[in-house]
Amino acid sequence: MPAADFNMHEIHWLMDMFNTVDVGLVVLDRKYRVCIWNGFMENHSGLLPSAVKDKDLFDLFPSIDEKWFRTKTESVFVLKNRSFTIWEQKPYIFRFKNYRPITGKANHMYQNATFIPLTSTTGDVTHVCIIIYDVTDEAVNKIELEEANRMLEQISRTDGLTQLPNRSFWEESLQKEFKRVSRSQGHDSLLMLDIDHFKNINDSHGHAAGDEALRHIANIISNTLRESDMAGRYGGEEFAITLYDTDAEGAKVFAERLRAQVESSQVVVDEEVIKMTISVGIAQYDSTFEQHEQWVAAADKALYKSKQEGRNRISIANNGA
Ligand code: GH3
Ligand code: MG
Ligand code: MG
Repeated sequence: MPAADFNMHEIHWLMDMFNTVDVGLVVLDRKYRVCIWNGFMENHSGLLPSAVKDKDLFDLFPSIDEKWFRTKTESVFVLKNRSFTIWEQKPYIFRFKNYRPITGKANHMYQNATFIPLTSTTGDVTHVCIIIYDVTDEAVNKIELEEANRMLEQISRTDGLTQLPNRSFWEESLQKEFKRVSRSQGHDSLLMLDIDHFKNINDSHGHAAGDEALRHIANIISNTLRESDMAGRYGGEEFAITLYDTDAEGAKVFAERLRAQVESSQVVVDEEVIKMTISVGIAQYDSTFEQHEQWVAAADKALYKSKQEGRNRISIANNGA
């Protein structure tokens, strides 16, 4: 339609829409000077269009990653194609505060953006329009969901009473280590540990005191472990520990430290003193093992030997026998 038909009302409406639409609209020229700045941008930056007009974008917003932004925009100028950014790649282009009450957790606005080439009458791309979308709600929901999933995963691996890895997670990690050590033919040791006469502790002091005693042993184990070792609660009052790159002799030194610490420590529940001892079985990895279960069985057998021979002691499996 002829320009004259584009009446003042319509221009007024267009300007109204331009300033109230809930996305940011920015037009930049080839030298990254701001040409157009809508109401959304004004509200969130606190800068009037008159304050940004013809100013260098990077002077106005030093927090913009200039190198990245230029690369992104140059390809729009040169290839005349649209380009996009999403918050997962870059949380925002313009650092704006987040004012949304529901998502008060994020202190900045997450943004997606579209870069659109604007052509002149001669077909050259002389300007770029950037549309900024506020995706804070979506981003926060996704981040929270991921956090919740991570937490659930953590809970599903952990024994609630002792906070040690539970049996299934410990066994999963043993299975992986079994495959690795089978290939490398290294020296790992497995240690099974059982509290002596634990039933008596429950009987004499009550189940709650028994629980406290289990936590006490778990703490001693956690504090004695090296970063790389992997302990788990194997059953009721049984614990299992994988000692990486440790032969049976090394494992025995470790086990003796544990045994002595348990023997010399005590738990006090309701002013009643509980003393405990532990029995330990050790099995070094053996190339004749075809499955990790055989390794566990060997350590279990050694543990049984410790019990048979009077408890509060350590036995090493005679592998292959
Ligand atoms: P041994 O020296 O032969 O190992 O004797 P024990 O009494 O320790 O062995 P047994 O396997 O007969 O008993 C283990 C006891 O551990 C039985 C069970 O009531 C108790 N138990 C298992 N899990 C828990 C728990 O989570 N809390 C408490 N308080 N007791 C538990
Ligand atoms: Mg026991
Ligand atoms: Mg037991």
